[in-house]
Amino acid sequence: MGRNPVIAIDGPAGAGKSTLARLLAERLGFVYVNTGAMYRAVALLWKETGEEPEKIARQLDFEMRGDRVFVGERDVTELLYTPEISDLSSRVSTRPGVRRALVDLQRAQREKYPVVMEGRDIGTVVFPDAEVKFYITASSRERARRRKLQFNDPRPLEVIEREIKIRDERDSTREDSPLRRAPDAVFIDTTDLSIEEVLKLMEKFAKEKLKSIIN
Ligand code: C5P
Repeated sequence: MGRNPVIAIDGPAGAGKSTLARLLAERLGFVYVNTGAMYRAVALLWKETGEEPEKIARQLDFEMRGDRVFVGERDVTELLYTPEISDLSSRVSTRPGVRRALVDLQRAQREKYPVVMEGRDIGTVVFPDAEVKFYITASSRERARRRKLQFNDPRPLEVIEREIKIRDERDSTREDSPLRRAPDAVFIDTTDLSIEEVLKLMEKFAKEKLKSIIN
């Protein structure tokens, strides 16, 4: 038996990665892994307990059931997607000890299943050897608009866009595993495309690449 295939999806906040990754995984029969949710879970426990984030990351009992996120038996999904946890997660994610622990957890997933994994450093650091890589982006205004809709955020679009830009900046300039497009990743700007249009492109490309593995 060879190793399980991986589809790596990277890109900035709000580009549509989670929706695309989840749907693509469904269509291909792969397991969907949202690595941003892992950083968010560490941030949440950090806020709740004040314990050292590295320790929290090393002990994290993380599981996704469909699109719900569980820490142990506790469903924390609603708590993860707030402006405060978005900010805290991008702060804890700059810490190398946190990244190391979560990257181990991410690599362990591939031992078990074929995965569609999305984040910031999947094609560059976690799985540089991924069979398929995508880099998904959109204009910051469009990403802010999508976040507003997704989270039912009542704040003005400009405020949300400013927050997204701050997080982009922090994610792209940190020392350890900054957000970068892998040279071999397929680049897709989704600003003027529907989810279905993007998904079709991704599915076609992935199936072509994986032909020798699936079916
Ligand atoms: O993808 P999402 O916006 O939920 O991720 C939350 C934060 O977690 C990001 O802003 C980023 O700082 C961090 N992250 C990361 N590496 C990943 C996934 C997320 O540093 N692979």
